[in-house]
Amino acid sequence: MIDHMIDPFGRTVDYLRVSVTDRCDFRCAYCMSEDMSFLPKAEVLSLEEMERLCRNFIDLGVRKLRVTGGEPLVRRNVMWLFQQLGRHLDSGALDELTVTTNGSQLSRHAADLYACGVRRINVSLDTLNPDKFLAITRWGKFDRVMAGIDAAQEAGLAVKINAVALRDFNEDELDRMVAWCGERELDMTLIEAMPMGDVGRNRADQHLSLAEVRRNLEQSWTLQASDHHTGGPASYVTVAETGRKLGFITPLSHNFCEACNRVRLTCTGTLFMCLGQDDAVDLRAPLRATADDEVLRRAIHGAIAHKPKGHDFVIDRDRADPAVARHMSVTGG
Ligand code: SAM
Ligand code: SF4
Repeated sequence: MIDHMIDPFGRTVDYLRVSVTDRCDFRCAYCMSEDMSFLPKAEVLSLEEMERLCRNFIDLGVRKLRVTGGEPLVRRNVMWLFQQLGRHLDSGALDELTVTTNGSQLSRHAADLYACGVRRINVSLDTLNPDKFLAITRWGKFDRVMAGIDAAQEAGLAVKINAVALRDFNEDELDRMVAWCGERELDMTLIEAMPMGDVGRNRADQHLSLAEVRRNLEQSWTLQASDHHTGGPASYVTVAETGRKLGFITPLSHNFCEACNRVRLTCTGTLFMCLGQDDAVDLRAPLRATADDEVLRRAIHGAIAHKPKGHDFVIDRDRADPAVARHMSVTGG
């Protein structure tokens, strides 16, 4: 009998987010700087190594697995990993396999994702204005993302839109995005920008409180309390007029850590126990040192024993440095 992962605060860890690459075909202004340097290939786990790690996490009680990045769908042969992970859905060991993507590669991968057992995906989209889209992603192609969302829905995938709320960027557009999501049968989650990694500007300029966003949306929409919970940082309402779910991820104005059920694995095999803390354990060394999975599982249990109680993100004009030095693309959100 294998012991499940329970942290020092009694929280069961049953959700793993895996960043399969630190690379991306976009350069979103809040996520990356324009001249990012990426990891050398030798440091990045092979897909086979990732599969072995994920398999062990599933053996230790992970029921939900999200593939993320960087942009996960730009990693070569990533569909092989989805196929391997999909087998655990068939066996009943895993309840859900999902992906967070910028949508740029969805047209060619949506049907394959569905075939691997993926049923719901998150697509990041901060604006419906093509010029603004180019401004915020720096390199993104709006039409490709739209085509990707179409392809995903045609393939049978439920799509949730992730939008980062940014002052003087999309605050006047969020109302329209809620309407659009209603028309397109998409759920939506609004995210407060988090102070992760140097992006070459002061984050206080971009920060927009979701409490303020919510008050504004309530002028136009009836937001009904919803009992939908994911164990994560989002609180959900239902938009009565559209029937769609709307989530608010508010790491700065609300503490969500008590019910945290997740850990994050980077593409180099480093396990981060909290999005907003630097506590991390290297799993690549035990992974590469031996084929004995028992050693790996002991290392995973050792890591879970150090899961911190919570984050301490602060966005403060006087504090220009990010709360954690790594970029969001290291752990994938
Ligand atoms: N490339 C994929 C995408 O954009 O969906 C997956 C990785 S991306 C890092 C995951 C999510 O993190 C995206 O929804 C993105 O908007 C969000 N994100 C990135 N940097 C952020 C930050 N500093 N604060 C809040 N959300 C951020
Ligand atoms: Fe790439 Fe996603 Fe970061 Fe944008 S948010 S730069 S798409 S990893």
